[in-house]
Amino acid sequence: MAKTIYIAGLGLIGASMALGIKRDHPDYEILGYNRSQASRDIALERGMIDRATDDFASFAPLADVIILTLPIKQTIAFIKELADLDLKEGVIISDAGSTKSAIVEAAKQYLASKPVRFVGAHPMAGSHKTGAASADVNLFENAYYIFTPSSLTSPDTLEEMKDLLSGLHARFIEIDAKEHDRVTSQISHFPHILASSLMEQTAVYAQEHEMTRRFAAGGFRDMTRIAESEPGMWASILLSNRETILERIEDFKERLDGIGQAISKGDEEQIWNFFNQAREQRQAMEIHKRGGVDSSYDLYVDVPDEEDVILRILELLRGTSLVNIHINEENREDVHGILQIAFKNAQDLERAERLITENTDYTVVIK
Ligand code: NAD
Repeated sequence: MAKTIYIAGLGLIGASMALGIKRDHPDYEILGYNRSQASRDIALERGMIDRATDDFASFAPLADVIILTLPIKQTIAFIKELADLDLKEGVIISDAGSTKSAIVEAAKQYLASKPVRFVGAHPMAGSHKTGAASADVNLFENAYYIFTPSSLTSPDTLEEMKDLLSGLHARFIEIDAKEHDRVTSQISHFPHILASSLMEQTAVYAQEHEMTRRFAAGGFRDMTRIAESEPGMWASILLSNRETILERIEDFKERLDGIGQAISKGDEEQIWNFFNQAREQRQAMEIHKRGGVDSSYDLYVDVPDEEDVILRILELLRGTSLVNIHINEENREDVHGILQIAFKNAQDLERAERLITENTDYTVVIK
């Protein structure tokens, strides 16, 4: 039976979800809310949604499923607003916020006495781009799509959501909301704080030591890439997961002090162990086995500095979709190959490796 789906917030996440839902359920009607007209127009013109509004409450009573793809604060405000609307009985309400406890608690507070179902969700995919113009039907491919069930979630809720979202080609997984926030604080929120702190420290240092910027190479780039993220989103993530993040910061201070003391004592064994343990632990992590949350499918080609060489490789890859391409021009010391190409999935990666190895004598490395 065809359903009516209401997506509130036609940004990168909401509009990409609309495309993914349409892929497997072309008969479903998708309604969209967006504050600004620009994203509403794009979503309508590109057929992501069937009807659009700038009045959130107006479409809510029509929907079988409502997905809030907005900043965390606004998601909570709309959950509160939904409690006062005359919604379809049994409607499923879900969201996409990057932290989950505050949203799930708000849902329990405002929706528990209503004939609705709620399941918190966090699709672990994204990019630095925003708005409907950046929507990508493949955004969630192979990414974890995390559900955080609560007392408002019946098992059929999850089954219905998984069916609705099958066209996203994501990997569905369930976890408790608080545990979600603890885990993501360690592997996502805290690293963002570190990357930005490192960037800030470096910028200040560079004022006195002018070669700092010029010598920064691959390692520094890898460590600070996420410092380019959208500040508003990260501020709201930190503020909605305060306690857990503060605890991670304290823990890290102790670790820094520990290695600082080892350096000050000249304790070579302790320093060696520090690096060795980290190396072993990283090698054992899922990001090395592919399929980890953020893993991309990267290929490195050692190419000579010759005319047209990159064009020649790209010509070989014609028809394979590339996620990213990077030419490493600077300091080569810790860079694997001058040309780095990222693919969406393992199949494309393997195909590219085969094509380049069969048709050139350049060294190809897959990490
Ligand atoms: P986006 O900036 O592309 O879109 C945000 C949407 O929210 C837009 O439609 C905007 O008009 C709307 N909006 C913002 N403030 C509003 C307000 N006060 N009232 C009404 N509408 C408002 O952002 P996005 O990347 O699509 O993020 C949406 C949600 O998804 C956020 O909660 C974010 O934490 C979460 N998320 C983002 C990523 C990512 O990497 N981008 C990944 C996973 C989850």
